[in-house]
Amino acid sequence: MKRYVIIGGGPAGVSAATVIRAKDPDGEILLFDRDQDLPYYRTELDTYIGGSTSDADMPLHPSTYYQEQHIVLRLRAVVTKVQPPERWVELDGGERVSYDALLLAPGSFPLTVNCSGDRVSGVTTMRTWEDARRLIRRIEETKPPVVVVGGGVLGLILAEGIRQRGRPVVLLEREPRLWAPVLDETSSELIRQALAQAGIEVSLGEEVVEINGANGRVAGARTSKGRRLDTELVVVAIGVRPDIGFLQGSGIRTDRGILIDHEFRTNVREVFAAGDAAQGYDPVSGLFRVATNWNNAMEQGKLAGAFMAGGGDPYRGVILSNSETFCGLRVSVLGLTQLSAPGTVVLIGRDQDKGIYRKLVLCQDKLVGAILVGNTSGEGLMRRMIVEGKPTGPTEVKSKFLTGVVIEEILYS
Ligand SMILES: Cc1cc2nc3c(=O)[nH]c(=O)nc-3n(C[C@H](O)[C@H](O)[C@H](O)COP(=O)(O)OP(=O)(O)OC[C@H]3O[C@@H](n4cnc5c(N)ncnc54)[C@H](O)[C@@H]3O)c2cc1C
Repeated sequence: MKRYVIIGGGPAGVSAATVIRAKDPDGEILLFDRDQDLPYYRTELDTYIGGSTSDADMPLHPSTYYQEQHIVLRLRAVVTKVQPPERWVELDGGERVSYDALLLAPGSFPLTVNCSGDRVSGVTTMRTWEDARRLIRRIEETKPPVVVVGGGVLGLILAEGIRQRGRPVVLLEREPRLWAPVLDETSSELIRQALAQAGIEVSLGEEVVEINGANGRVAGARTSKGRRLDTELVVVAIGVRPDIGFLQGSGIRTDRGILIDHEFRTNVREVFAAGDAAQGYDPVSGLFRVATNWNNAMEQGKLAGAFMAGGGDPYRGVILSNSETFCGLRVSVLGLTQLSAPGTVVLIGRDQDKGIYRKLVLCQDKLVGAILVGNTSGEGLMRRMIVEGKPTGPTEVKSKFLTGVVIEEILYS
């Protein structure tokens, strides 16, 4: 009987366990997670904070699921060491557990601000269900506006969740636009307007430089524009990093994340990786990249699980892909959205009255990226065309994806 050990009970780890069980009915599956809660929808933490998702809606599966599937789920179990030559992992209490195949799916940890006062109580990041419960308690205890630091996806959805709890919110983004590595000026502005309509103040080009404390708790913040903000709660959402510190000394190759091939194998035999912590090939940029989103983690977990249990479909690669609704405004981004290399063609379709903005990026007769705001139709097909690198041209792209909008074409030479 083969023993599968999985580190991490997020979507990558849980979907891998499910696929392994389907392919190997007799294998032993051990799933370790540091968290105290049954695996849950991390993507719903913002709506949980906002009050529209209940406790009952949070778990991925009821506890009986793991029993029925004969998956041994061990919560509050932190893996501190991996020893590939002898094929065991060590838990924080010193217990060693052997494996035949190991999946590393530890996800990410949130970065925090580095400024004076950043250690006082009331400066918080958001990753776990317990973080969300703690934040709700703090929101209810405080009166002045909540400051959200970071205008990426996480900062935007957290700002919305906090606002839905009835609290004033000030969101600070140090770059001149929201979600700067991905969005352009127009899409950023449309999102800013949607947030403003929901009562969220967004300030671009501004960051927190000092957090004032009184009795160990937040009692205000100073920004790079010299503003003094009256606040008792600073929520930091400035990015994440793969949570891979425990692999030090294991011989498993890492860069920003755990390096994997198209079968999710690391450089070490019978050790696989998937999800936020894995760094795989991006067929569009030709680089190895970490992709931090739910669908990617689910898909990678399923495919990695299949390879662990004997065989699966090779992975086509990791592309940037994210779909979100910001205060009622639907937004999707795919692939390379900011390319301006010679030969790049950018097609922009707008319908100002309907608040629609669609930008498609082509390079060497291939669709390589898209930003879709207000109308995200065609997203699935675009994603397939980007991943497969299917040849296309502006005429085909216009007729497929830009009907009923005013089109502008930009050619970079
Ligand atoms: C508030 C919030 C909202 C989000 N919303 C969206 C969204 O709307 N759309 C979207 O696409 N993505 C969203 N994301 C990102 C998405 O949740 C992640 O990309 C996804 O959860 C990654 O899955 P994963 O399985 O790789 O890792 P995770 O979900 O992070 O799971 C990894 C698990 O491993 C555990 N672990 C780590 N190290 C160890 C160890 N050494 N020993 C034992 N256990 C360990 C962790 O405790 C964790 O439970 C959101 C994230 C957050 C925080």
